[in-house]
Amino acid sequence: MRPAFRFSFVAISLLALTATSFAEDTNCVISDRQKGDKVELIARLKNLSDVTIDVSLKLVNMRCNKKIPFRTVIKSEGSHVLFELSPIHPNREWKYHYEFAWKSGHNLVGKPKAFFYRLPYLRFKSRVTQGPYGTFSHGTGSQDEEAIDFLMPVGTKLCAARAGRVIGLRSDATLGGVNKKFKKDFNYVLIRHDDGTFAEYAHLKHDGVFVKIGQEVKEGDAIGLSGNTGFTSSPHLHFSVFYTVSGSKRITIPVTFKSAYGNHFKPVQGGIY
Ligand SMILES: [Zn+2]
Repeated sequence: MRPAFRFSFVAISLLALTATSFAEDTNCVISDRQKGDKVELIARLKNLSDVTIDVSLKLVNMRCNKKIPFRTVIKSEGSHVLFELSPIHPNREWKYHYEFAWKSGHNLVGKPKAFFYRLPYLRFKSRVTQGPYGTFSHGTGSQDEEAIDFLMPVGTKLCAARAGRVIGLRSDATLGGVNKKFKKDFNYVLIRHDDGTFAEYAHLKHDGVFVKIGQEVKEGDAIGLSGNTGFTSSPHLHFSVFYTVSGSKRITIPVTFKSAYGNHFKPVQGGIY
């Protein structure tokens, strides 16, 4: 018999939640699977097609068939084998330990194109409750620095602020409030634009998403209903444009909107648009 000691520990940095009553985002699930003499690390994507994943490894008497630390970008739903580990000396003890982080989206190839966005809601005027670098949750280091929060009642119809392809969505979250324990508990739609940037529409209502993964949307198409899920102080839409540089970091970029009269503006806190 071959003595094999197997040890794995998964640290889900940035995603770990302690209370089971709060629903984690399970659009990307990473797990290990033993296959004969080998161990595979698998990423399963559902309701998400664009993701950046980082994995770090500690190996004893094992080798990896990919370069470590490992980073990959996946661009389709389903199961993906990230890499394979195998014992160097199969008759000796071997073990492995991995830690991972993932974020929706991926890096840009070129520079973001200058673009004037339409407001992301239909038949409604909204007050901006938090603009870029707002201290409630858009401060430096938040990875939401350039985001904008538009106050609106739950159930307000949202639309695409720019054309693109739906690459991520969630609609199963039910909880929300002014407590960081709700931070990973929000519904959202993510849309990839033709220049490789992504738009995030967040805090949507439970079951309030109208679109599907892979769907092409035009500017102004209805995409869902606003809500109050996640870390929020009042019902609103959180809107940002970003790209992703690693499994734990995304960069938001400033957004300029256009009004129905053709003028361009950057929303500020307290402004009504
Ligand atoms: Zn926000």
